[in-house]
Amino acid sequence: MQDSEYSLRKEIISTCLAMERKGINQGTSGNVSARWQDGLLITPSGLDYDTLAPDEIIYLEMDGTPHGPHSPSSEWRFHRDIMRERSDVHAIAHAHPVYCTAHAIVGKDIPAVHYMIAAAGGSTIRCAPYATFGTDELSRAALVALEGRLACLLANHGLISCGPNLRKALWLANEVEVLAKQYYLSLQIGKPVVLSSEEMDVVIGKFKTGYGPKAKV
Ligand code: 13P
Ligand code: ZN
Repeated sequence: MQDSEYSLRKEIISTCLAMERKGINQGTSGNVSARWQDGLLITPSGLDYDTLAPDEIIYLEMDGTPHGPHSPSSEWRFHRDIMRERSDVHAIAHAHPVYCTAHAIVGKDIPAVHYMIAAAGGSTIRCAPYATFGTDELSRAALVALEGRLACLLANHGLISCGPNLRKALWLANEVEVLAKQYYLSLQIGKPVVLSSEEMDVVIGKFKTGYGPKAKV
């Protein structure tokens, strides 16, 4: 195995552990992938991240053929389909963060209640309609919700966060969970004020010129 593949596999595991440490994820829920050569590297299904070794990460060809000692994540379809349809995405983190998932349970988009929503590429974070985990239907719904965006909620399920690298996908997952928590808390004390589309256009423009962590190549 090339050194660069080994270090990407290690980075996938450290991203999973960081999701747990940051409280974005719990237990064996969630999964992480990164584009590699003509396919992607993805976490195996249902294994504890604490004891996961680099050679247990699965290489998946774009036709869905897995290579590795375990089954790939049950969500390999949406990871594969997002990588195939979105040339700007090179890493994906999926999790069930508590506040994102609470909003996803009521099936609502998150509106522009904070300017940081622009980090996900637009003035809303859309909630994709419910579909059974691991299905083509879920994958299609996620792709629609991600149009022009790097993150979306999945109804009655959780969050997908994408990025040009693992570091940014993890960063965005954390930002969206913080935003979901802020929105939830503001709903307890009053009627949240939604920023105008004019103001959000300004903020989105500023984000396009490079807000957030720089790519680590
Ligand atoms: P996997 O353990 O198969 O990746 O599934 C976790 C999950 O979050 C399914 O939506
Ligand atoms: Zn899930």
